[in-house]
Amino acid sequence: MTKNDQKIRVFRERIPSFSCTPGCHDCCGPVTASSDEVARLPTKSDEEHDQALSEFNCPYLGENGCEVYQERPLICRLFGTTASLPCPNGCGPSEMTDPKIERQIHTFHKTTRQVLL
Ligand code: SF4
Ligand code: SF4
Repeated sequence: MTKNDQKIRVFRERIPSFSCTPGCHDCCGPVTASSDEVARLPTKSDEEHDQALSEFNCPYLGENGCEVYQERPLICRLFGTTASLPCPNGCGPSEMTDPKIERQIHTFHKTTRQVLL
């Protein structure tokens, strides 16, 4: 396991989970993630990427929601759990992500190669 993989594992553990409005995917869209996270996802063709981007969508958003839920990137997990990324539907965990962890995740994003999903 690489250093970045270890960091991703720890960050995942520190982001609290919560229940979303059933069927809602309002916060899904074109997002970037570290190349380490993207490497875990199934490859999408250029056409699939172009199609998703033309609809301002994420290529992993399928009919029944996120197709890579177990491996979704940190930015997707963070959404709704911090004051700077609030859920527009008012959903969120009872305890938000510790601001220190949030800062560490943003630093991780700034210091790793980012790839558009
Ligand atoms: S965090 Fe909010 S906007 Fe995003 S999927 Fe859940 S309910 Fe919808
Ligand atoms: S990876 Fe999944 S959760 Fe993240 S934006 Fe794409 S569809 Fe939504």
